[in-house]
Amino acid sequence: MKQTIAVSTRSRNELIDITGRVREAIEKSGAMEGICCIFVPHTTAGIMINEGADPSVKRDILESLNRMVPLTGDYQHAEGNSAAHIKTALVGTSATCLIEDSRLVLGTWQSIFFCEFDGPRDRKVHIIFV
Ligand code: ZN
Repeated sequence: MKQTIAVSTRSRNELIDITGRVREAIEKSGAMEGICCIFVPHTTAGIMINEGADPSVKRDILESLNRMVPLTGDYQHAEGNSAAHIKTALVGTSATCLIEDSRLVLGTWQSIFFCEFDGPRDRKVHIIFV
C-alpha cells in the first residue's frame, strides 16, 4: 500500500524532519513487520537518514553541501538549478526503513529528513510498505 505525504518547504535549502509523519503512515498502514521504502519523486529534493537529536548536525550537513556544490559555477543546465540537482544526486531520493512490531526501527540518534535543495516548493514523499 502506498501513502503520499505533502511537504511544504520554506527555504532554498532545508532539511525537514519527517520521522513523525513516517511513523503516522506506518500506523495507518497497519504494517506489523517488514520494510518501508520512502521515495521522493523530485529531481531537486531528496531523503536522508541522519542525526536528529542535535540540530547543529543538520546545519553542518547543509553548510557542507553548500560549500561542496556552490549555487553558481561552471554549469550548463539552463534552468539555473544545477546545484540542487547535484546535491540531490549526492543525497539520493529514497531510503529504506525496517518495521518491527508495527514500529519504525531507527537508531537512537537517527531521524528521517526530507532534503529541499530548490525551495520553497510544495513537495511529495511516497511511502510504500512491503
Ligand atoms: Zn533543473
